[in-house]
Amino acid sequence: MVLLHLPKLPSTILTPLSSSPIFLRTHFLNPNPNATKTPRPLLLFSTLTLPASEPTPIDPHTPEPTPHLQLPLHKLFVPPETHVPLDTPTLTARILKGSNILLSNYATDSQVAQAEFVKSSVRTEDCPSDGLPEFALVGRSNVGKSSLLNSLVRRKKLALTSKKPGKTQCINHFRINDSWYLVDLPGYGYASAPQELRMDWEKFTKDYFLNRSTLVSVFLLIDASIPAKQIDLEYASWLGQNQIPMTIIFTKCDKRKKKKNGGKRPEENVNDFQELIHGFFETAPPWIMTSSVTNQGRDEILLHMAQLRNYWLKH
Ligand code: GDP
Repeated sequence: MVLLHLPKLPSTILTPLSSSPIFLRTHFLNPNPNATKTPRPLLLFSTLTLPASEPTPIDPHTPEPTPHLQLPLHKLFVPPETHVPLDTPTLTARILKGSNILLSNYATDSQVAQAEFVKSSVRTEDCPSDGLPEFALVGRSNVGKSSLLNSLVRRKKLALTSKKPGKTQCINHFRINDSWYLVDLPGYGYASAPQELRMDWEKFTKDYFLNRSTLVSVFLLIDASIPAKQIDLEYASWLGQNQIPMTIIFTKCDKRKKKKNGGKRPEENVNDFQELIHGFFETAPPWIMTSSVTNQGRDEILLHMAQLRNYWLKH
């Protein structure tokens, strides 16, 4: 088997801003302290946990992360038990392309070999009870959620299952590689939906976020081709306030026509959105720029999911 290797890491803890260690809070918190899985304490990590001499295996199919964005350290998402290399070339080589996410040793087994629809549930209690870790996709209607889901599993129509009558308002579980779930949640912000129905979806989606003990992270989809919408900001704010681990997936990053799309390019909208949600979080949440047309960000999302999942499984 071919193994790709990460750059060799220095074996000391580096502290760029002061002589004290860097303390970064992670988003790997258990959403609900009453949930069945033992709640994890707030994770503070400043210690080196990667052995400097051992190379990290990454999926043979995925390209090595490419340097892409220059981001200050405080804007990076650092997974737990991850050493932050302080020399710039090493650090940038470990940031997933088009994201603020540092790659950790947990980023293994990221590829999707098998995907199947399992069930639609209207209540959290009815969701699968096999204890497998899961990631929930949520976003405004038309944000590109179905397209992203199909792109992640490389199946043209898998997400159509969620669009069948009666299932659009459900929690739809798709089992991946028989070992984890992608969960498609109802889109929000339908202008035409009756108010009572909207309230109802909100109630059960929030209940799911707060009580689903196997939820590793919510993936909040935001359309990067247009300026931020109030409802998206409210959603991000609610997740932040409730300490629900969240990754922002910026969709439609291939749409680059400034004038047509509200005057700004995707990367400008991405920056604006982060500025706007800055106050809701103690540390920068992870984010990735994607396009279901070009498959930009697809492998990066899967690597990020793998590192969150593998860490979650181990703790
Ligand atoms: P959903 O309602 O969130 O499931 O959104 P869909 O996946 O059905 O997509 C809504 C519309 O956006 C469709 O016309 C898609 O073809 C389009 N779309 C989705 N993703 C992308 C993308 O990455 N780039 C572009 N240019 N269009 C997209």
